[in-house]
Amino acid sequence: MIPLDNTRKLNIIEDDLVVSLDYTLTVDGKLVDASEENEPIEFIQGRQNIIPGLEKELYGMSIGDSKEVTVAPDDGYGTVDPQAIMDVPRHEFPADIDLQPGLELALQQPDGEVLHAIVAASGPEVVRLDFNHPLAGKELLFRVTVVALREASQEEKAHGHVHGDHGHPHEDDEEEEEA
Ligand code: ZN
Repeated sequence: MIPLDNTRKLNIIEDDLVVSLDYTLTVDGKLVDASEENEPIEFIQGRQNIIPGLEKELYGMSIGDSKEVTVAPDDGYGTVDPQAIMDVPRHEFPADIDLQPGLELALQQPDGEVLHAIVAASGPEVVRLDFNHPLAGKELLFRVTVVALREASQEEKAHGHVHGDHGHPHEDDEEEEEA
């Protein structure tokens, strides 16, 4: 038996509550991401399910509260790493790919891992690839509204992520779930 904890407030965001959040993300004045209409994202507060710079600003918010949160690159997608920009000989690409700057590529490594890169520059001999996250080095402006709060289930707490329709997709812990 798990004793009920009657002191826990479910109307204010704190660790191990499942937060349903409507959000928009604006970068350089442009809307780059948003929760779907009537489909807020769900995550467990305090488990690094979302960007740290946003998560820490949510503590203490109540259902219905809205807030603007500006996240610096260090608390967002990181700073631009010059080591993650590299020049690759043009002949290593299939001849029929139009390697325009801005083109997004998914490159499968020998170990099966897929790396994402953007063509930063393209010449006849050399193509410059940028493996940084597209939002690295960017200041992120989130506008958020808390839609709902609930206690995470024991299973969700054990896994560190939300289950259910709007939760994080499951990959490596299916067997655990059968138990
Ligand atoms: Zn799980």
